[in-house]
Amino acid sequence: MSSKIKTLPAPHKRTVTLLGSTGTIGQSTLKIIGEHPERFEVTALTGGNNIELLIEQARKYKPKRLAVANEAHYANLKSALQGTGIDITAGEAAVVEAASIPSDIVMSAIVGAAGLKPTLAAIRRGATVALANKECLVCSGELMMREVKKHSAMLLPVDSEHNAIFQLFDTAHPEQVEQVTITASGGPFRTWTYEQMKAATPEQAVRHPNWSMGAKISVDSATLMNKGLELIEAYWLFPLKTQQLQVLIHPQSIVHCLVQMVDGSVLAQMSMPDMCTPIANALAWPQRIKAPVAKLDLAAIGSLQFETPDTARFPALALARSAMETGGNAATVLNAANEIAVSRFLNKEIAFTDIAKIVEKTIEKTDNTQLETIDDVLACDNEARAYATGYKI
Ligand code: NAD
Ligand code: MG
Repeated sequence: MSSKIKTLPAPHKRTVTLLGSTGTIGQSTLKIIGEHPERFEVTALTGGNNIELLIEQARKYKPKRLAVANEAHYANLKSALQGTGIDITAGEAAVVEAASIPSDIVMSAIVGAAGLKPTLAAIRRGATVALANKECLVCSGELMMREVKKHSAMLLPVDSEHNAIFQLFDTAHPEQVEQVTITASGGPFRTWTYEQMKAATPEQAVRHPNWSMGAKISVDSATLMNKGLELIEAYWLFPLKTQQLQVLIHPQSIVHCLVQMVDGSVLAQMSMPDMCTPIANALAWPQRIKAPVAKLDLAAIGSLQFETPDTARFPALALARSAMETGGNAATVLNAANEIAVSRFLNKEIAFTDIAKIVEKTIEKTDNTQLETIDDVLACDNEARAYATGYKI
């Protein structure tokens, strides 16, 4: 009997920093880490406001460092975790600092542009970053990719479509690829008229047919802004021209991307709509590990449908494509205005269909300029937020 297998070295235990551990992606990441204790250990966890869950996670995964963004929670956290030896910190700077401490892989899973500074801190120490937080790439794509190169960092896409492209796209040979299509479920209002969508409530908007996600991305999926942000995300992650990127509506969310090669072959990545697959793929890359997901049963699903997106009913998708093509600060403004408009909708201040309107008006109002530094990005983001917050419908 060959003893070759027995002589292979034990797999290296990866240390993981998790930014946004209390969110949907954060919880799925910890679920996978919990199923592979021989492979992963947690270096740092960060959260925003869900203090009970953060305490529970800290007790279970025993990070060296715990950072809570909201300083008001510091005292409670400190007393609840007394005697554990965990280094507890609070505030925005503490989250950035947690991202800076050494670890093998950083899961960037904070929602929105709030994830930009911590993600950049990880990139600037040359980390391998599993990127779920698409907004930071949308609002500062050019600068972020420049920092990745400068510091020899690496981005592993976690967003399901981008993880799918990552699995199929040989970036050494971009000339072999003609077109990349990312799919969208179409969200809960796929078959609604524009008139019906005017009366859509936050409760209806966050009830996604296939995926279980945080509130902001669920609303983005309902407006199709999520797919627009993902076009921009793909543009920065892969060597593709804007016109090579396409979107198809696919209500079953089984095929996540289609990579069309110049010879007419089309490669598809399929999996159940469960973020545990792309998260496991990124955490273990370039190896593969077992993920806690249901087996794909195509016979049970029966048929897969595809449709062209309707940008008249879902104008956010067209706005995002236009921002991608315009370049400069357009995507930064789009992202900031969208974050504000989504939160105004969730607060029941505006109608669902006003989200895209506010984004459009904010872009119209802003001069297109180049953003040279991260401070320029943050200033532009702030200005767009202020305009979108004050915009009267
Ligand atoms: P979520 O709302 O469930 O969780 C967000 C996390 O960010 C929480 O841990 C929260 O405490 C933290 N957070 C929020 N504001 C913060 C701040 N100002 N400072 C520090 N931490 C803060 O969101 P989610 O659904 O897990 O999504 C996270 C990111 O992953 C988003 O960018 C989203 O677009 C992306 N993503 C999510 C999914 C999904 O299925 N949920 C899929 C693809 C991509
Ligand atoms: Mg996605």
